[in-house]
Amino acid sequence: MTGVTGWRYWSLASDGTLASPLLWGGSWQPGTAAAACPGRPGRPPGPHGILPDPHGIPDPRCGCGWRVMTSLQELFAVWQAAAVTRQLSLQARLAPLHLDVCGQATLSGRICGPDLNSDPCGTLRGQYGEVTGPLATAAPAPLAAALAARYGTRVIRVPRMTPAAITSALLPGS
Ligand SMILES: [Zn+2]
Repeated sequence: MTGVTGWRYWSLASDGTLASPLLWGGSWQPGTAAAACPGRPGRPPGPHGILPDPHGIPDPRCGCGWRVMTSLQELFAVWQAAAVTRQLSLQARLAPLHLDVCGQATLSGRICGPDLNSDPCGTLRGQYGEVTGPLATAAPAPLAAALAARYGTRVIRVPRMTPAAITSALLPGS
């Protein structure tokens, strides 16, 4: 399948399942999965008002779709900004930031750019998403093995989830 490969991070459940680190984000199943439109939980309608239902997923005026970022550098900038926001925002503190796994996912089908209400520049949203790897994690070896088995991807263990460690694991020689 043709698609666009990008970078993202996930939280990691005890059975090896990857999920969005945000409270309203969905979990990623193995293989290629179609995105659903959850509406706009916790957010007011955007400048274009409430979208007619149904609409194409993702839609430039809506928040739906699987998300990746186009570069690791942009992903780390978002990660660090989220850590700052978490210090300042009660809502963000209620949605703990789990940065358990970082790596590659591939979008296909309908592709569009960021939801301007909530996404940083460099975000791509897709109709279909697949965890393609490689993935970097500091999880214990048995959990990393469960992750690799669940998605059929290469998993590289790093001592700590820092930008430098992740970059050297996922982009060796960069
Ligand atoms: Zn939508």
